[in-house]
Amino acid sequence: MDRGKFIVFEGIDGSGKGTQINLLVEEMKRQGRTVYQTAEPTNSVTGGILRDALGGFTDRTAYEMSAMFLLDRIFHNSNKINGIKQFLERGIDVVCDRYYYSSFAYQGIDADLKWVMDMNLNCKEILKPDLCIFLDIDSQSSDERIAKNRLEREIYEKKEMQERIRKRFLEVFGILKDSENVKIVDASRSIGEVSGDIIKIYNEFKGEV
Ligand code: ADP
Repeated sequence: MDRGKFIVFEGIDGSGKGTQINLLVEEMKRQGRTVYQTAEPTNSVTGGILRDALGGFTDRTAYEMSAMFLLDRIFHNSNKINGIKQFLERGIDVVCDRYYYSSFAYQGIDADLKWVMDMNLNCKEILKPDLCIFLDIDSQSSDERIAKNRLEREIYEKKEMQERIRKRFLEVFGILKDSENVKIVDASRSIGEVSGDIIKIYNEFKGEV
């Protein structure tokens, strides 16, 4: 049996990851694939500590956040109940909302970027995605989407911060251009236009692998 495909979505908050993941997963299932949809942080104990910190309920340094995301990611890959690896080995595709690129973009601002990248990219228990789709949007537009739909904000969800994170994502994709398969999609357009591009990227990706 062929190994499943591991697809990751990245983008600043409000870029449309949740919306587009649902649409791609629907299309993949329509094409007959079995898909496991997942997200980081996970529902592990560490994921709970991370969510507390992201919500601003507890204070953590960028180094603590980086280390906890690493731990949560190892769990996400390797645990026997719903770990990414065992799904892929069973031929099931995995689509994940955020992965190590988010650690580079978010924690790589206040913690040492090389340290954050090295510990994720060199960890044998953390798989490299087969495809990363980056939903690129300016922070003004994503901020308007968040403002329309949510009353509370996470610690990183300030407009100025989001613009820095977007730039850091693009910088990181430049550094990784020869080693990671990243497709950048203009996410400021309508849901249908963005989805059309993503499905095209997915169909081409399937043809290549
Ligand atoms: P993320 O998961 O990246 O935070 P979401 O998919 O939750 O983003 O989208 C944030 C909000 O913006 C949601 O209310 C969603 O309905 C809306 N939204 C998503 N994509 C678009 C789009 N292309 N145009 C306008 N609004 C969108």
